[in-house]
Order: sequence, then C-alpha cells, then structure tokens
Amino acid sequence: MNTYIEGLMADVVARNPGEVEFHQAVREVAESVQIALGRHPELRDAKILERIIEPERVVMFRVPWVDDSGEIQINRGYRIEMNSAIGPYKGGLRFHPTVYLGLLKFLAFEQVLKNALTTLPMGGGKGGSDFDPKGKSEGEVMRFCQSFMTELQRHIGQFTDVPAGDIGVGGREIGYLFGQYKRIRNEFTGVLTGKGLGWGGSLVRPEATGYGAVYFAEEMLKTRGDSLEGKTCLVSGSGNVAQYTVEKLLHMGAKPVTVSDSGGIVHDPDGIDFEKLGWVMELKNERRGRIREYVDRFPGATFSPVDPQADYNPLWAVAADCAFPSATQNEIGAKDAANLLNGGVFVVAEGANMPTVPDGVEQFLGAGILYGPGKAANAGGVAVSGLEMSQDSLHLSWPREEVDHRLKDIMKAIHQQCRETAEEYGDPENYVAGANIAGFLKVARAMLDQGIV
Ligand code: NAP
Repeated sequence: MNTYIEGLMADVVARNPGEVEFHQAVREVAESVQIALGRHPELRDAKILERIIEPERVVMFRVPWVDDSGEIQINRGYRIEMNSAIGPYKGGLRFHPTVYLGLLKFLAFEQVLKNALTTLPMGGGKGGSDFDPKGKSEGEVMRFCQSFMTELQRHIGQFTDVPAGDIGVGGREIGYLFGQYKRIRNEFTGVLTGKGLGWGGSLVRPEATGYGAVYFAEEMLKTRGDSLEGKTCLVSGSGNVAQYTVEKLLHMGAKPVTVSDSGGIVHDPDGIDFEKLGWVMELKNERRGRIREYVDRFPGATFSPVDPQADYNPLWAVAADCAFPSATQNEIGAKDAANLLNGGVFVVAEGANMPTVPDGVEQFLGAGILYGPGKAANAGGVAVSGLEMSQDSLHLSWPREEVDHRLKDIMKAIHQQCRETAEEYGDPENYVAGANIAGFLKVARAMLDQGIV
C-alpha cells in the first residue's frame, strides 16, 4: 500500500508542480485513508482517491479595477470547484497577496472532507484573489469586489456553488460581492453566506468558526473528564476566527492570553477580558489597525515583532494549557510544536486551516495530546453557512439560540464521528485519522453511487 501512496504522490507532484500546500494536504489524507482503502477494495478499484484529488472544475480570471489615483490595477481571480458529490460546491473566498492556485486547491480539498463531516449536504470549493485589501480605501475595495463578481457570477449560484468569507473577506466584502451579483443577475438568492443580518444572513455566522473550535476543544476535554474552565489559552491571529475564539473561551471561564497579526504577537499575562476583546474588535473591524497598538492601550501586555525568517514564533513558547491557532496555514512549525509541548499545552484545536506542519502533527500525535485538526475543529463556520442556506431557502430566520444550539450539536456530531472512526480503524484518540477517514468515506460512497463522473 505504501508503494501505492508513493506512486500517487509522485503523480500529484508531477501533475501539480510547485503547489506545495496542495501536495501536503493530499499526502496527509492519502496516508490516513490507506487503511480504509485496504478494507474497501471497491473504493480503490473505482479510483476514488485519484478522482477526489482532481478538481471538477478550475476557473481563473482577470480582475481589472481602477485605484483611487486613476491607475488601472490587474489582479487574478480563482474559483476551484473541487467536488459536488454530496451537495453544491461550498467554501470561502480568500483575498491575500499569497493566494495562488496551489493554496486554493489545498483549501478546496480540505473543504470537501470538512463539509462531509458537518452532516449537511455541501460539496467543497474555494476561491479568491491575490488582491490585498490591507491599506486600500473603501472605494478601492468596493470596485475590486464588483469587478471580481462581474466574472465570478457566471460560475456560481444557490444550487451550484455558494462562496463565503475567509482571510481578507469579511462582512464588508461579502456585502459588495452580493450587491454586484444581485445587480447583474436581477435575483435575490442565497448565493453567498456570511451576509448581513438585515439581508439574508444568519445569526451566529460571524461567531461560528471560533465558537465551533472552542466547542470542539470542550468535547475533546470531556473525554478526559476535564473542561476549559480555568485553562490558560493561546490564540493566534486577531481576525474573525481569533476574535470569536477569545469570546467563547471567556464564556467558558478560560483565560486567553495572546493574540497576533502578521506584524507580531501580543502576550497579556493578566488575560484578555471582554473589555480588551471589544477594543481588539474595534481596532481590527473598524479602524483596521495593527495589533501592536494593544500595548499602548493595555500596558500590562507585551508586544514582540515576528521575524518571518525565524524558525519559531514566540507566541507558541508561552506556557499554557490549550492552543487555538487561528491565523493561517503552517503557522506552527516543528520548533513551535516542540515549544508548545514543553510549555505544557495538552489541547490544540485548529481554527485555521492546516496551521500545523506535518512534523508538528506527528509530535502532537506522538505526545498523545488532544489534537483537533482544522477540518474537524473549524467546521463550525461552514456548518452555520449551511444553516444560512437552509434559512434562505425557507425565507425565514431562526433565533440566535436555535442556531447556536444547532452549531453545538453539529460540533458534537463531528467530534463523535472522528472518535468512532478513529477507534474503528484501530487508532483511538487520533482525530486526524478519524476526520480524514470519516470525511473521505462519506464522499467516496456518494461518488460510487453516482458512477464514473
Ligand atoms: P481574517 O479575519 O482575515 O484574519 C486573519 C488573521 O490571521 C489576521 O490577524 C491576520 O493578520 C493573520 N494572518 C493572515 N495571514 C497571515 C500570515 N501569513 N502570517 C501571520 N498572520 C497572518 O481571517 P479569518 O477568517 O479569521 O481566517 C483565519 C484562518 O481561519 C484561516 O486559516 C482561514 O482559512 C480559517 N478559517 C476561517 C473560517 C471563517 O469562517 N472565516 C472558517 C474556517 C477556517 P494580518 O491582518 O496582519 O494579515
């Protein structure tokens, strides 16, 4: 079987040159599911793994727009429609200068398995652009979004492909994108999720990814008769996922002590309380400032700039019980994983997608800590997006308590599927194996039923 995986990986690398994140994501899943392929030769004969790693469709397009000085700018837009075996393509849009085809293919591939775990009927996709919203005026962001949607609108729709937000795409961008879609298509449908509450959005969608990651951590702790109450927690990032992770940790009686952005990290040993969190939200969502300003406002905290060339990030060297990486992929390197373990961390719940490098994942699994991989732990966001689609179709909106209750139930169900599958395949407590195998099998069976498509 290893020869099979090595052969498959050689092919993936040759066919998708330079797409290192995509290679990384495929290898992890292929290694996890080889045991399931051994038990289900019909899936191997039907070449499900070979098919699932090939996107159903990739759209790449030009996004021209005019900046405030009148100069023409050209960005590149993408939509990866990865797999629609169990529902319409669903997955976020990322606007960040590092966006390229391989990054979005990794995210789309992860999304397929994640969406399968949510118990909702959603296929997987991802998209975005190398546009950087940072430092752009409101008018520039709007004109970019309008140009992006002018092309994207011909590829998406409420029954085909329903994008949402991700890094660099929050409520503001979803608003501009939705407005342009509606204007061109002359229809008011749930074609995007993460919409404003007054125009088709769902309560708890902004909070869902962060809240869900915390619910998942609590479920993992319960298996050891423990809880988040009183735990010191490290959170990276200060965007959507990080903010609501901090908020839910506070609801659960935990003590979050860090936040960060690409400029550096803030360590607040007294804890980030509701007042400080409110200040961070205002800084990031309204003033769009940098996290280093935190220490001017709250002098008990320290700020450390992050050196992108360094082989470790000081955030992961702070002693704590739990870690919630909520910024970006591969943000926990091999040395960071060792620092986390040395610092006493025994719970890692990934709000970000693939934030831990493979060597770090091995260290966590080897140490026997409670490690919840992103495709399970951060599935709460897309789950509530699925609930937003249901509410849009029904033309009604559920109250906050109901959506939150459903989110909690979904996170419990994901946790249970991961544990039961890991146990069934002989590796109890290995949530990586559990998530990969459970997600893969659900999509694989649907593909088998639908013939060679
Ligand atoms: P966001 O609101 O744009 O915030 C991203 C945060 O991460 C910011 O603090 C940003 O700092 C930091 N960051 C981004 N790239 C970085 C880099 N290369 N190095 C260091 N810091 C970096 O995005 P988000 O929605 O919170 O997404 C965060 C992560 O969660 C991503 O991995 C995303 O794929 C994942 N996720 C999001 C959702 C969702 O519902 N939004 C759902 C599932 C998973 P700067 O401002 O300095 O760039």
